Amino acid sequence: MKKFLALVLCALTLLPFSASAENHPLKVVATFSILGDLAKQVGGDLVEVQTLVGPDGDAHTYKPTPRDSETLYGADLVVENGLGMEGWVSRLVSASGFKGVVVIASTGVMPRSMDDEGNSITDPHAWQNISNARIYVKNITKALSEARPEQAAAFQKRAEAYDAELVKLDAWVKTEMNAVPDQQRKIITSHDAFGYFGAAYSVTFMAPQGISTEVEPTATQVAKLVEQMKAEKVRRVFFENMASPKLVKQLAKDAGATVGQPVYSDALSHADGPAATYVAMFRHNVALFKDAMLLNGK
Ligand SMILES: [Zn+2]
Repeated sequence: MKKFLALVLCALTLLPFSASAENHPLKVVATFSILGDLAKQVGGDLVEVQTLVGPDGDAHTYKPTPRDSETLYGADLVVENGLGMEGWVSRLVSASGFKGVVVIASTGVMPRSMDDEGNSITDPHAWQNISNARIYVKNITKALSEARPEQAAAFQKRAEAYDAELVKLDAWVKTEMNAVPDQQRKIITSHDAFGYFGAAYSVTFMAPQGISTEVEPTATQVAKLVEQMKAEKVRRVFFENMASPKLVKQLAKDAGATVGQPVYSDALSHADGPAATYVAMFRHNVALFKDAMLLNGK
């Protein structure tokens, strides 16, 4: 009997060690850098985040590599945007043999649709409205907590602090945009990545290229935009960090406008750049948009 008790005690003391597989940081793979940052904000040191489409990368046109398959194979969670953003991800997930949980960060967001030459298509760039990013954070927090219930309180605490930061950021964006007279609130960027931003913060965005960077604009579309820019006296145009500036440079030349610094729509900057986090991205873009809009009509 004594021997049996000793064995039980021994087994009990060993228990935490036998569960050591659970002690490694949760391995999270995010499809692109913006989602990777949101996962890091919630997970902190308790998660190890890897990103498939890194800083300045284009998640619309991304071609997965064999290394991505390996990254996914060993992961616990995959965080993707959904809304048709990463058309390549479901094939990659099934091909990789991934056995974890797929988290669709945009679940619960009210999607916007846009007319694309007569077809209604869903706009995937929902994170460009901070209220939506707060929903993303909730979804990521729930998924991390379900994967590691014993760390749920820690995730919740981090998520609450981050959410408070997002609330503050949202108020700041509204103040900055409201400082620009209504009729001057127009911005040109290279592709339609700011529809949610425009709706949330009352700015009209125009772009020669549609919702995805996969389709090149026609000469007629570009000419039409140039006419509109001239008529409305739009003085500065922007290109996104993940897009080529070529088209926007041509637009600026044709419409007598200048080209602004890159803005960040679908990808963050590298760590030493101006938009290394979601919050930094918003601060950077909003400052540039405000300066540009104050030149409009003059
Ligand atoms: Zn995009």
